[in-house]
Amino acid sequence: MEPLILNGSKVATDVKEQLKIRVEALKEQGVTPCLATVLVGDDPSSATYVKMKGNACAKIGMESRKIHLPSETTTEELLDVLDELNDDATVHGILLQHPVPSQIDERAAFERISIEKDVDGVTSHGFGQNALGFGEFPSCTPAAIMEIIDYYNVDPQGKHAVVVGRSPILGKPVSMMLLNRNATVTTCHSYTENLPALVADADIVVAAVGKPNFIQGDWLKEGAIVLDAGYNPGNVGDIDYESCYAKASAITPVPGGVGPVTISMLLKQTVDAAEKYGKTNS
Ligand code: NAP
Repeated sequence: MEPLILNGSKVATDVKEQLKIRVEALKEQGVTPCLATVLVGDDPSSATYVKMKGNACAKIGMESRKIHLPSETTTEELLDVLDELNDDATVHGILLQHPVPSQIDERAAFERISIEKDVDGVTSHGFGQNALGFGEFPSCTPAAIMEIIDYYNVDPQGKHAVVVGRSPILGKPVSMMLLNRNATVTTCHSYTENLPALVADADIVVAAVGKPNFIQGDWLKEGAIVLDAGYNPGNVGDIDYESCYAKASAITPVPGGVGPVTISMLLKQTVDAAEKYGKTNS
């Protein structure tokens, strides 16, 4: 049987339609949700991502503010910019585009973002809260994966979820989120032995490896649910789509899967922040 296509573009459109209503309501109260994006240097892909995020804000009536700093920016200079944004009541979310140039202490910069504005879920404070299952904003790609499974009524409870990847923004937090939803989670990484055998036992597979076409269909259990967070040059995911399609009961495509939902989660979390912490002029 053909698998259900977990259509991220459709999920993202629905999320954004809901957000438009919330943004309108906020504006009537004198608060325009605003996402500040900070880009350091001239990496063309990062510049494209930042532009896409700004455009996405505009499409739902939000504001965005783009801060573009030169490649030679120091950690201290970046921290000063982040402090200013933290103190600016008209900014509700801060996104520091990464990677930043190597002379910058990226962790220190992430940590400087105030928890109320950490809509990209990059601070250790936000990560800790998310791991414990309360508080502010999770990292956007893990949030997108959870949004997709909820949209399609996939209940992770009791299922074996195998997450391939353990990065702080993706593999680790999505493992925690699945665990908090009562999945039994195995998190794999580059030192994991016999990965295909672990994947073969998975009811849910999350691919977050950063290697094109890495997860093979013949590793999968028949009927597995496959969520591909990967995004590699040439619009290629981290799973081998054709062979996984033949085995899965549900699968995210690339493009049009996790990617568009990730951006909508960034918007949603900025609107959440504006609703929670936004100050009106009155
Ligand atoms: P990352 O920081 O490079 O992490 C990759 C992870 O995969 C690491 O934990 C690494 O293990 C693990 N890994 C590498 N080789 C492996 C192997 N042979 N077997 C098992 N695990 C292996 O990447 P990331 O930032 O998490 O991104 C992962 C993917 O998601 C990329 O394709 C990226 O483009 C995509 N992504 C998409 C979005 C979106 O919006 N859709 C957002 C972010 C990322 P170690 O920890 O041992 O090194």
